[in-house]
Amino acid sequence: MDSASRAGASEPIAGEGPSSTSGGGGGGSTAAAPSRYESQKRRDWNTFLQYLTNHKPPLTLTRCSGAHVIEFLKYLDQFGKTKVHVTGCPYFGHPNPPARCACTLKQAWGSLDALIGRLRAAYEENGGRAESNPFGAKAVRIYLREVRESQAKARGIPYEKKRKRPPSASAATGSSDVQAGEEEGGGVAVTSVTTTATVL
Ligand SMILES: [Zn+2]
Repeated sequence: MDSASRAGASEPIAGEGPSSTSGGGGGGSTAAAPSRYESQKRRDWNTFLQYLTNHKPPLTLTRCSGAHVIEFLKYLDQFGKTKVHVTGCPYFGHPNPPARCACTLKQAWGSLDALIGRLRAAYEENGGRAESNPFGAKAVRIYLREVRESQAKARGIPYEKKRKRPPSASAATGSSDVQAGEEEGGGVAVTSVTTTATVL
């Protein structure tokens, strides 16, 4: 009931990796600093575990199915930054709408796709068996495909280019976060999620 749990519940990995205490000299950089991908993957994984803990009723990893993964992705939409127009919106299909509308923001498909890739790897690295990996479930793949197609339609991104636009104009606005999701390994706003995950 009361969400007055400890503030700062999501402190950033205090006891990180006690195994690697091969104290090299020199300051700053640890022997093998994890890559961006690795640290992002770890953060995503912790976020997902946190999500399971906060889930009502609580979920364990072993009972987690593809349906739960999809539920998680939908939950993340509230932190998204990509405008996805509903079919009734006058700007449905417009890549650069001239005005605001009431459509909600969601996670860009590219971000979700990259996220699932990282979580899928993390699941198996943490002892999960490949054949029961919920992130590799067929339902998840289908869901991602549907998201991709609906976002492509809603935002007017054609699969084949119909008309030419100056690249600077389109890059400046609509498609920026999609691209970020692809090249940075997905800047899904996941990391800040954990603290506020409790239901109000
Ligand atoms: Zn709209």
